[in-house]
Amino acid sequence: TDPARIRNFCIIAHIDHGKSTLADRMLQITGTVSDRDMRAQYLDNMDIERERGITIKSQAVRMHWALPDPDTGEVGDYALNMIDTPGHVDFSYEVSRSLAACEGAILLVDAAQGIEAQTLANLYLAMENDLEIIPVLNKIDLPAADPERVAREIADLIGGDPEDILKVSGKTGAGVEELLDRVVERIPAPVGDKDAPARAMIFDSVYDPYRGVVTYVRMVDGRLTPREKILMMSTRAEHEALEIGVSSPGPTPTKGLAVGEVGYLITGVKDVRQSKVGDTVTTKLKPADDALPGYTDPKPMVFSGLYPIDGSDYPVLREALDKLKLSDAALQYEPETSVALGFGFRCGFLGLLHLEIISERLRREFDLDLIATAPSVVYQVTREDGVEVTVTNPSEYPDGKIAAVREPMVRTAILAPKEYVGTIMELCQSRRGSLLGMEYLGERVELRYAMPLGEIVFDFFDHLKSRTQGYASLDYEPMGDQEAELVKVDILLQGDKVDAFSAIVHKDNAYHYGTMMTERLRKLIPRQQFEVPIQAAIGARVIARENIRAIRKDVLAKCYGGDISRKRKLLEKQKEGKKRMKMVGRVEVPQEAFIAALSGD
Ligand code: GDP
Ligand code: MG
Repeated sequence: TDPARIRNFCIIAHIDHGKSTLADRMLQITGTVSDRDMRAQYLDNMDIERERGITIKSQAVRMHWALPDPDTGEVGDYALNMIDTPGHVDFSYEVSRSLAACEGAILLVDAAQGIEAQTLANLYLAMENDLEIIPVLNKIDLPAADPERVAREIADLIGGDPEDILKVSGKTGAGVEELLDRVVERIPAPVGDKDAPARAMIFDSVYDPYRGVVTYVRMVDGRLTPREKILMMSTRAEHEALEIGVSSPGPTPTKGLAVGEVGYLITGVKDVRQSKVGDTVTTKLKPADDALPGYTDPKPMVFSGLYPIDGSDYPVLREALDKLKLSDAALQYEPETSVALGFGFRCGFLGLLHLEIISERLRREFDLDLIATAPSVVYQVTREDGVEVTVTNPSEYPDGKIAAVREPMVRTAILAPKEYVGTIMELCQSRRGSLLGMEYLGERVELRYAMPLGEIVFDFFDHLKSRTQGYASLDYEPMGDQEAELVKVDILLQGDKVDAFSAIVHKDNAYHYGTMMTERLRKLIPRQQFEVPIQAAIGARVIARENIRAIRKDVLAKCYGGDISRKRKLLEKQKEGKKRMKMVGRVEVPQEAFIAALSGD
């Protein structure tokens, strides 16, 4: 295709503002998917995605749209490549690569809701990538829609005349044809050097059990053809392009990809880490000198231990993680053992949603019952002798004197109706946030805070939602490390550490964490033949203590020797319980108690 006849765009929107529905209508109106084959949320193909209404993996689809030339009147056929971006902050690197594959973006805003935090975050990313922005109001069919107000909000934000903002309904299809016209008119055609060595940017790679890894690319310069030897510039790995094609919407092989085109390539590799998002593909015969800018390795931000509740499931868990890793380059894991929980894996995730998605998939696709330890972030600990240690697990925290601890910080943007300003500020301050700025957008306010990521992974979003009746939205991006007064709190049973409960917390919160955990465990751990102290300690200093009193009587004494069936039941119950008992020193604890203490109930 002549680059002048190509338009590459994406839709950026806050979750639930109607991106998938609008994409459906575009596929239908352009005839890419026939009415007969149409089903809701056509491009969202993972089960969890559908159920939770989120897009996890981006996809690219090619549509055709005819439009007369404004000067000559001659009707031109345009190839519109729609690149679906993941909407969530955990995947912001993938979002940024999808945006880099486009020249323009549809900024979709629910006309009943207005601008939200993810709208803003993605809009800023799109502007950094110099994309042409087409603002669009969606859901104008809703009685609660207030297009005038929301149009003013948008115009205040990005400039322009509120009157010019398109009004559509992804549900009814109203306004969608005009929107397609506008995509052609307003979004610039891609430019590149067709004679230069090939350079294609990978903006997504997906594992397909039948075809292996499918790599989605945007051609920037030159051309890629099937059967050619290709080279991944970050790893220098060589592959053969077995198949090259475009999605329209099903995979359709082509004779190659040229400047400005968006498509996929299949090399037969089985592991997405061979085909990394952000990397540049070139050819072996005539390789490019420089890779395209912007490549970075996915870096896990949040770590948690995943343990099978039934210890015999451990091999299944290992196999399941091996499988998931094929399709998820950001997932990391290594074996770990815990006194309280047995054998499991320490896993690294991009963020909390990523953690949730992976544990959900393990439960659902592999039928595993799992317990996750409290999420932890990555700390840089400098010992007194100057040695630096990276700590992703509180149990690795060095003993002895510490010179300094650095923790990851994030720039947080919170958007909420302005009556909630007070309660949000209070919450952010209690989480060690420092205010960076505040701006009013009509009836709403955007608050920007610098906050430790460790405070956010700990139920921050739940608190934010409940304080604002669900109206606040949150987004964040990394902003480097910062020194903080952090300590490790250990929990001890009769003097023995229970590893899964160690936590790295700010020194002002240490006492709270200690009393909460010791109290919780006292209620959950059954009485033993002897008294058991439960302590919280920082190093050798005990900061909280509870006692489990010793039992005096035999459990069977209650039965007066009379009721045989009750006696048998008790014995059976005890036997059953024994199977799942964990020994911490001399103390016998049912695994359920640890699990309950970790899940906070
Ligand atoms: P996404 O999260 O941005 O992909 O949003 P979806 O496309 O999944 O839409 C979220 C919800 O809004 C769904 O229940 C849709 O049926 C509904 N929705 C989407 N577009 C419209 C619209 O134009 N009008 C109305 N009334 N509802 C819509
Ligand atoms: Mg969606």
